[in-house]
Formats: sequence, structure tokens, C-alpha cells
Amino acid sequence: MPGKALAVYTSQFADYKFHEDHPFNPLRLKLWFELLEAMDAISDEDLCYPPPATEEEILLVHTRDYVEAVKLASLGKLPEDPLQYNLGTEDNPIFPKMHQATSLVVGGTLQAARLVMEGVTSHALNMGGGLHHAMTGHASGFCIYNDAAIAIKWLRKHYNLKVMYIDVDAHHGDGVQWVFYKDPDVMTVSFHETGRYLFPGTGGVLERGADEGYGYAVNIPLEPFTEDDSYIEALEEVLPALMKSFQPDLIVSQHGCDSHEYDPLTHLSLTTRGFAAAARLIHRLAHEYCQGRWVALGGGGYAPRRVVSRCWAILWGEMAERTLPEKIPESWLLKWAKHAPVSLPEYLYDREEEFPPKPRREEISEKNRRTVVQALNRPVWSFVF
Ligand SMILES: [Zn+2]
Ligand SMILES: [Zn+2]
Repeated sequence: MPGKALAVYTSQFADYKFHEDHPFNPLRLKLWFELLEAMDAISDEDLCYPPPATEEEILLVHTRDYVEAVKLASLGKLPEDPLQYNLGTEDNPIFPKMHQATSLVVGGTLQAARLVMEGVTSHALNMGGGLHHAMTGHASGFCIYNDAAIAIKWLRKHYNLKVMYIDVDAHHGDGVQWVFYKDPDVMTVSFHETGRYLFPGTGGVLERGADEGYGYAVNIPLEPFTEDDSYIEALEEVLPALMKSFQPDLIVSQHGCDSHEYDPLTHLSLTTRGFAAAARLIHRLAHEYCQGRWVALGGGGYAPRRVVSRCWAILWGEMAERTLPEKIPESWLLKWAKHAPVSLPEYLYDREEEFPPKPRREEISEKNRRTVVQALNRPVWSFVF
């Protein structure tokens, strides 16, 4: 009987770093890991160190010329036409050894998939992963190689599995969606803030897949200022129904936590309660439909001290069934409050009284309900409802 969960982790994930002032800050991984250590909720037996992905594995998704461009950029040289690859931009600046650093992140996600498939564990996570915007031929939205898509291709190639990809990052999981847009064996479902105001601008309900894959891409674009209750209602309305119809063999989920009220880059208004509900539901569905097979990844999250560390600790607690203390340990607070630009939460879960209802709560919830109905009203799946 495989153990409950393993975390694929190495402090070298911190090499995936654009520069000091870039919002994608790998410090969040250290904050997360040290928080779990301070809570006595993770130990050496829970860990697995990843090998870097091979070039062959990266080429399962990315084009040869893009990979060559990234390798060149790793040496500090810009490829001939860097904009063709969206490299050297404000979002995706080049940095030393970017090919090696991203290959390690991809290797982490592949390792998580391997551990689950070899029966070493039921659930595995890689918080360094979840680079869901990367496209086959270019970088996008802080993402160089798309570890989630590569791992799903790998699972398809070696095990011929039906894979459910669930993305709860505040941004649309576009890179993964486009890779599998015509593939009926991979269903992608993304819950995100509507692209009307937010990067990458896609992820409308009418993006449903194409050709044989029609009906196998599902998008739930939520209103700005969506709060926990409306968010949880959407998850519960959509995910169990899709799992029931699609009957996948394995779940890959992306747990960006930029949907939190405190995140500086987006406009969703979740608290830790909404984030935890997503993790709990996905966990339940993995057992109900996939014999527990579940690979969970990180993703966005730009409030490292106040949000990412806590949300991802909650995710690990859920996967590994660890009871976490209610209060954030003093030792962690003492260490990290020193250099913090904001005061740090004392509790693992947000206090409800600190999040008063948003002014348009009812209107927003109603609009989200209509979006869910539209998203599920599809020829392929409509027989379910
Ligand atoms: Zn995001
Ligand atoms: Zn479990």
C-alpha cells in the first residue's frame, strides 16, 4: 500500500529566479518549506529530490528551436530574434542557467508523476512546478517550460492514461489548455479571474476544445472580487460532474494561490478557506475516481509571506493528512517578520472578521452562477445534467 504523499523538493528550485525585483520570487518556496518544518509537519521521509528533465522530455511539448533559444539565453546570449520566443521581456527576462533551472522544475513534476505511477505514493507534489503559461514555442507569463503539460504528455506516452488537469490559479491555465486542445484523453479545466481585465486574456466559456477534443476544455472565468462561497459553489458544481463524465485515471492539479485577496497581481478575493476547499475537493475526487492518483503543483502567488507559505502548507496538510497547528509558529514569525514589508498573519487560516463582505457580493455570485451554467452547457457533456 503506497504511503499517502511525497513532496518533491530541493532548495535548488530557487535557481528559477529572474531577478531581485521580479514578482515571481522563489523565496516563497523557502518560506513554505520552513513553515512546515517549524510546524513539524514535514521530514526527510516525506521528501524526494528530483533529477532534471532530459531534453527529450522537454521536447515532448516544446519546439527544438525554442529550447535552443533558451539554452543560448542561459549563457547570457540573446537568441537572434528573442521576441519571437518572448524572451528578454519584462515578464520573462533572461537569467543565467535558465535552461538548467527550468529543467529541474520540469524534472520535479515528472518525478512526482513517476512516484505516483510506480506506486511509491498515492499523491505527490512539486510546489516549484505549475508553470502553466509556457507555450510550445515561446515563454509566457513568467513561465519558461511548461512542466504540467510535459508531465501529462509523458503520462500519455508511457501509460496511455486519461488525465484530468485542474487549474485553480487566478490566471487562465492557457499553456496547458492549448497543448491538449484537440486531445479527448486530456480534459483541462481552469477556474480563474475573467480575462477581461487580467493576463492572459483568454479562458472564456466558449473555449471548449477543438476537433476530437471538443468538449474537453472547460473554462470558468470568475468575476473580479469573487469571494470564497461563490468560488466553492462553482468548484462543487463543476468538478464532480466533470469527473463523473470523463472518468480520468489521474489528476494533475495546479494550485496557484494568487486568487487570494492579498495577492497584488489579481482581483479575486479568496481567503485560505476557498483555497483549502479546492485542495480538499480535488483530494476527495482523486480517491473517488482515480484510486488516489494525484499530482499537485504550485503556480502563481505573489504575496510570499502572507499567502503562499500558508496556502501551500495547507495543501501539504491536506495531501499528507497532517494536522497543522492553528497558529503560525513563533520561530517562523520571528525569522520572517524582520524583513517583511507587511505584518504577517498569526494564524494558518485567515480570520473571517478580517474579510468583510464585498459590496457587490450577491451580484458577483449570481454572475458566476450564470457563467457555470454556460460553461457546462455543452453538447458533449450536456447529457449529464
Ligand atoms: Zn497566476
Ligand atoms: Zn489521500
